[in-house]
Amino acid sequence: MLDKIKQTDPEVYELIEAEIARQKGGLEMIPSENHTSSSVLEALGSRLTDKYSEGYPGKRYYAGNQVIDKIENLAINRAKKAFSVPHANVQVYSGSPANTAVYLAVCELGDKVMGLDLPDGGHLTHGWKINISGRYFKRVPYHVKEDGYIDFEEVRALAQEHKPKLIWCGATAYVREFPFEEFAKIADEVGAYFVADIAHIAGLIIAGAHVSPAPYAHIITTTTHKTLRGPRGAMIMVTERGLEKDPELADKIDAAVFPRGVQGGPHNHQTAAIAVALGETMTPEFSEYGKQIVANAKALAAALIDKGVKLVSGGTDNHMMLVDLTKYGVGNGIFVQEALDMAGITVNKNTIPKDPGSPFYPSGVRIGTPAITTRGMKEKEMEQIAGWIAAIIEEVKDYQLPKGKEARAAYLKEFDDATSKNETILSIKKEVTQLAENFPLPQ
Ligand SMILES: *Cc1c(COP(=O)(O)O)cnc(C)c1O
Repeated sequence: MLDKIKQTDPEVYELIEAEIARQKGGLEMIPSENHTSSSVLEALGSRLTDKYSEGYPGKRYYAGNQVIDKIENLAINRAKKAFSVPHANVQVYSGSPANTAVYLAVCELGDKVMGLDLPDGGHLTHGWKINISGRYFKRVPYHVKEDGYIDFEEVRALAQEHKPKLIWCGATAYVREFPFEEFAKIADEVGAYFVADIAHIAGLIIAGAHVSPAPYAHIITTTTHKTLRGPRGAMIMVTERGLEKDPELADKIDAAVFPRGVQGGPHNHQTAAIAVALGETMTPEFSEYGKQIVANAKALAAALIDKGVKLVSGGTDNHMMLVDLTKYGVGNGIFVQEALDMAGITVNKNTIPKDPGSPFYPSGVRIGTPAITTRGMKEKEMEQIAGWIAAIIEEVKDYQLPKGKEARAAYLKEFDDATSKNETILSIKKEVTQLAENFPLPQ
């Protein structure tokens, strides 16, 4: 695929090849990542990127959109079918602008909005302090309990007290099934819009491996590049319930995306790639894939627990788990993330509920199975991977993050030097590469 760029721009070519080699030789275990099919990549790399098409099918501000209209309508119809919803906007560039468009569609400046707090697993766009959502709207964060499940008593009490305009259910780091039905009840009690953000679990929902929010939410937002296994992108959907609550909701969402809000011309190559990815999800293979993601996550979680690793909530219902490292010290997620990366296992440091550290130096790591399941790995490989992860945690558990900024930088440098020479980590890296090479990236 890269024949031309190899001739015309070897500098960029080398870098792309280096990244492909990194992906091939290691295990991508960041829960929000995946490997797309060659068909998705071909759509993304197509001439469609050349076309301007501000507006929506049949209502464009530019000529020459006969074909683009058909492509966008195809993506819309596939999205409606995949999620059983009456309206879908497939133009939003990515998950964060999609969520910002929802505020624009249904909120006024200063309205109260409720979402899961970021340190508890919520997303930046659900009302975090530094984000537009927390600065232009009044944030009312809710939390998870000690056991890792959403604290419903708190959600209901806060909703009753504040009467928010909008309530989010969705997260970037939550390992249990989302209780959409209970949220709908609370939102109805206080007259709020209920928005389900299924960015992480969209693929699981289509595969039948997670309950769907379609019967409960008014609006559903999702990314298309996580378990859905499409290009980077997003969608905003309006449900039957949403249209009952507000018959103009679909128009409000579309207008918030363009022209009132977050973008100009749609990325048509991305829209086509979303259509391709949605097409791929409507197959028995995808349904098996979604179920295997969860089976793999459960197997990995059980094997890690068996090896003495502590997990938030004691396991998982979905595609990810959160390792709780607090027993080794505050903010140790960075050491485990870096040491695993050195061994070719890519995860990300993440806060855990009631984290004594900070979002930049959290006391946990987040591990997910969507990408390695795409490569065909099963329970047997999870057992092997759990052994490596547990061994590496054991190797770095005594490192303690110093307090001052400069002391930290020096210490992390020392840590990197030591881990890059660590025999255990180096020998695990060899085994990781071997496993990865036996499970090629998708065609
Ligand atoms: C990933 C994610 C987003 C944002 O997606 P981007 O495409 O990175 O902007 C929004 N909400 C949730 C819950 C997510 O996990």
